[in-house]
Amino acid sequence: MTTREEELGTFEMLWDCGACGTGKLLGVTHRHCPNCGSAQEASRRYFPSDEEKVAVADHPYTGVDQQCAACGAPSASAAVHCPNCGAPLGEGKAVAMKAHERVAEGQPFSASHGAASPQSAPSEMHAERKRPPFHIFAILAVIALALFFACRKKPATLEVVAHHWSLERTIETFALTTMSAWSDEVPPAAQAVSCHRETRSTRQVPDGETCERVRKDLGNGAFKELRECTPKFRDDPVEGDRCTYQVPAWTMARRDRSDGEGIASPRRFTSPGPTRLGTCLGCEREGTTTTVFEVDVRIVDTGKSERCAMPEAQWLALRDGQEIQGKMRALTGGVDCSSVH
Ligand SMILES: [Zn+2]
Ligand SMILES: [Zn+2]
Repeated sequence: MTTREEELGTFEMLWDCGACGTGKLLGVTHRHCPNCGSAQEASRRYFPSDEEKVAVADHPYTGVDQQCAACGAPSASAAVHCPNCGAPLGEGKAVAMKAHERVAEGQPFSASHGAASPQSAPSEMHAERKRPPFHIFAILAVIALALFFACRKKPATLEVVAHHWSLERTIETFALTTMSAWSDEVPPAAQAVSCHRETRSTRQVPDGETCERVRKDLGNGAFKELRECTPKFRDDPVEGDRCTYQVPAWTMARRDRSDGEGIASPRRFTSPGPTRLGTCLGCEREGTTTTVFEVDVRIVDTGKSERCAMPEAQWLALRDGQEIQGKMRALTGGVDCSSVH
């Protein structure tokens, strides 16, 4: 983001005479009050409003004014003796300058005494950190307590009642499938392609600039006005061809499920699998198969039972009628399945 700068001119700062009260004296032209003769005080300078602006023509800029240590009057940086009291200036102290001011283009500047720029305003943040109200803590405490009781477990004698298994598989079919893609991503084998225009992405395009007027105290009774502009951008849509088409592809046709009881019962599908194998349109293949191993467990004391899923090795290691020391949930009275092994 580059900022473009354009000079709008150099103008007189204004100052008010502290001795006689004469106002709106010119910073460069009136080094002394035309009414009472008092020397200008740099600290009384201020920016004029737009209507009061007086241009400074061909005034050579020699630097920020220095302040006389004896009488406080400002004098040009090149001066050797104070033009007001005659004291030698030597290594004079530079006068305090007003901070830069800026307005959006089209907005007026009003007369402004501003702040002297060296004394940077301490940004005292009244950061009164807001404390969350008490009832939030109370609600959180209740939730934590509820979770604690809901999760609490106690020891229980459990009996393995029965073994259960279930198999599930998907059967896929090779068929014409409708898909969609951008025109340059449509596969060559696609059929029945039809496309329409659609927004595919956006692109940043220049969209003018944002401008401000800035005024900067030169410290010699004058100030400089500038126009500062930064470029703006907007997002423009970029169109593309979105196409729908058909291609032969494997898609899920149906699900198969079989289940049975006991460790010994053979775990296999009872329904027929894929009917026609191969890669013809309408051919079938087996997709993914999953097996779920579960055990029915009863809490001996309460008689309540529950079905627990577990890995195959653990399922095979348990015997029907076996008693194990496990856990039950205190709140619901259910079996804690993670304790069954
Ligand atoms: Zn005066
Ligand atoms: Zn002096």
